Amino acid sequence: MLKKRSWAEPYKIKMVEHLTMTTRRQRERAIADAGFNTFLLRSRDVYIDLLTDSGTSAMSDMQWAALMRGDEAYAGSENFYHLEEAMRRHYGYKHLIPTHQGRGAENILSRICIKPGDYVPGNMYFTTTKLHQELAGGKFVDVIIDEAHNPDSEFPFKGNCDLKKIQRLIDDVGADKIPYLSLETNVNMAGGQPCSLANIRDTAALCHKHGINVFLDATRAIENAFFIKEREPGYADKSLADILLEICSHTDGCTMSAKKDSLVNIGGFLAINDDAIADEARNLVVVYEGLHTYGGMAGRDMEALAVGIEESVQFDHIHARIGQVEYLGHKLIEAGVPIVHPIGGHGIFINAKKFLPHIPQSQFPAQALAAALYVDGGVRGMERGAVSAGRDKETGENILPSLELVRLTIPRRVYTQAHMDVTAESVMSLWDDREKIVGLELTYEPKHLRFFQARFAPINADRVLNTDVS
Ligand SMILES: *Cc1c(COP(=O)(O)O)cnc(C)c1O
Repeated sequence: MLKKRSWAEPYKIKMVEHLTMTTRRQRERAIADAGFNTFLLRSRDVYIDLLTDSGTSAMSDMQWAALMRGDEAYAGSENFYHLEEAMRRHYGYKHLIPTHQGRGAENILSRICIKPGDYVPGNMYFTTTKLHQELAGGKFVDVIIDEAHNPDSEFPFKGNCDLKKIQRLIDDVGADKIPYLSLETNVNMAGGQPCSLANIRDTAALCHKHGINVFLDATRAIENAFFIKEREPGYADKSLADILLEICSHTDGCTMSAKKDSLVNIGGFLAINDDAIADEARNLVVVYEGLHTYGGMAGRDMEALAVGIEESVQFDHIHARIGQVEYLGHKLIEAGVPIVHPIGGHGIFINAKKFLPHIPQSQFPAQALAAALYVDGGVRGMERGAVSAGRDKETGENILPSLELVRLTIPRRVYTQAHMDVTAESVMSLWDDREKIVGLELTYEPKHLRFFQARFAPINADRVLNTDVS
């Protein structure tokens, strides 16, 4: 009888990077110095760094070799043309405008397309995307399906757009107030949850019928393609590359943070089919990023990115990448730890509301849990909840989102299965002692994207009892 075979990494390790091992004492001091914000820890104090999968992937030997082929000409670098070729082959758009990372592309797209008073629907917000839309005078409107806000729903495509919500927005404000719909694949803030191709097709058809563009946030489109291949009828025999092209074919362009899917430490791009928007973008990129043939990237970085795009669409790579995420997720599920279901593509999202029901959301349970996890095992995760959601622009009140999560994001090709075991054991030991964790209050709050630099202090147990009103 044929037994199910495990996945394994389609690579072996050629070079290692040593990690510092710290004591609990040292970590207690480090997190207090960091204002209980894992973003403010020094990386040398971190053992297993699951803060983000952004720019933290390991490049291959071929990518390192590509760095040596950097053509650092100010204009017309050969590497730009290689990158353009790779983008066209796998994403299929006409024009490439390189940017230093994803938000550079978001800035340019938002400035070109959004007028003050416009509405920009999207399938759940992403921090930098929404901020650039707002800075351009737009208002973000969430049109993701309701299942996405329910961490326990097993719906296989929780990234899908709700067509009724899009139609309602069009009816309410008029299509001329909606410059484009921002469509994210493998929705980050929902827990790395994919969209189905059927939904992408229907969403685009509805928007296009009303003359509304659809721009893809293609940051994790290939991880999304993997889930389409696994879960959507009719796609099992298609290659990831073909599915990726089909996703993009329904949209009018994309913003891309190449620091995720594309396996580089820095880089991004804007890709556009429309000639006029592309011309404007080439104009603006000079102001904010650099000339249109480098856009804030060194030639060598563009070359490594071109190679990274080719590697990123390989099935065995994504199979092992998502296999590792699922390995960690299943360990936590078996131990009864509440995490977002189904397991997403780039990380495990612990449901802090369920993990710490004794801490009200106004005391940032996910932030507190992320700090506790660092102290326990030297594992660095990050908050995705009320701190990340920020304040309502009009009322100034804290937004309390339905999802209050700690994200354990897995860098690509970096950690071993043993690192996943150690991480799971640390989470499980906190789960056993969870009532000892206390809430936090803000002691410093930056104006924009506060989660990056905010500082906190623990609220002592007595005060929680006396003043808790929520
Ligand atoms: C990371 C990310 C961005 C922003 O990209 P940067 O490269 O960090 O500027 C945009 N959208 C999504 C979904 C992301 O995950």
